[in-house]
Amino acid sequence: MKEEKRDILTLSLDDIKKFLESNNEKAFRAAQVYEWLWKKHCRSFDEMSNISKPLRDILNTEFFIQAVKPENLQISKDKTIKLAFRLFDNSLVEGVLIPSEDRSTACISSQVGCNLGCEFCATGKLGLKRNLSAGEIYHQVVEIMKLAKDKYDLSLTNIVLMGMGEPLLNYDNVLKAMEMISSDKGLGMSPQRITLSTVGLPRMIKRLADDNIKFNLAISLHSANEKKRSDFMPVNNHNSLESLKEALIYFNKKTGQRITFEYLLLNGINDSLADAKDLAEYCKSFPVKINIIEYNTTGNPRFNKSMPRVTDAFVTFLKSKNMVVNVRRSRGQDIDAACGQLAAKKGK
Ligand code: SAH
Ligand code: SF4
Repeated sequence: MKEEKRDILTLSLDDIKKFLESNNEKAFRAAQVYEWLWKKHCRSFDEMSNISKPLRDILNTEFFIQAVKPENLQISKDKTIKLAFRLFDNSLVEGVLIPSEDRSTACISSQVGCNLGCEFCATGKLGLKRNLSAGEIYHQVVEIMKLAKDKYDLSLTNIVLMGMGEPLLNYDNVLKAMEMISSDKGLGMSPQRITLSTVGLPRMIKRLADDNIKFNLAISLHSANEKKRSDFMPVNNHNSLESLKEALIYFNKKTGQRITFEYLLLNGINDSLADAKDLAEYCKSFPVKINIIEYNTTGNPRFNKSMPRVTDAFVTFLKSKNMVVNVRRSRGQDIDAACGQLAAKKGK
């Protein structure tokens, strides 16, 4: 038995070929192994029925398959399902299936916890335990896909990286998972149906542009006022709105993509007409879509959701400036499955 087994899902097809050749196996077997891993989602080498027992044994000695185990399903009255994923080291992350009339969306996590400490977010209180591997990110989608089929006979249409963690602080693994989710060798989903949500790290956004990503980018803006944003999003102290704007201009020029801004309306904090004006001004440099999100309570007494008439006035102002604005209804609140509420609470 090898002391340090490796995660086979970190290997490219070429890496597997090389490994097989160095073990005197035929290179064409690599495609079969790869297919078992990414297309047939096998969880143990013994499931690879067209691979010889001796080769399965070699693989088993060298590698492990980093899958995720769903547990603790909670079903909301609006049919949203939250589940926890148990990881190999016993950590937990959460994922959500959100079925609606015209789509069914999987919300998945990118890290165990998060160390960016946005004050309105339950995940932010956990701190960061570790990054998820590409396999762990990918397999959350696979499990939610199975769940959608089993429970509602639905196919998954959309994926949002809006669960626990900051995806751009786990860049390589997230991109590898995205690549396999959209590749024909994996789940074959269109990248246009995948959205990565980030707190907005300028350096990493430029990297996404250079990597010419095809999936959608959503920025959790929540305020276009430098001082206010820093006040409840500490990350803004070192990544100013000005530098974010510069990175987004670069991103838009390189990819031609429109940017989505998430804007959480917090009562008396970022919901005045002056705030709406700041937002409209900030959006002048590139094409944007604004998603207004309702605050989901996370127990911090400082925050409450905005009053309906204040929300209406905010949205009306933006629309009067010809901006594209959607108001997002919150889903799964009764089971703490809504945005910002994912904290993998024990026993819940
Ligand atoms: N770290 C990434 C992705 C995970 S958070 C990010 O911050 O974008 C996913 C979304 O939930 C973000 O837009 C975040 O701002 C939002 N969110 C966090 N706490 C929330 C809350 N209490 N109510 C509503 N949305 C919240
Ligand atoms: Fe982290 Fe996103 Fe929560 Fe902020 S909102 S603490 S970046 S998970």
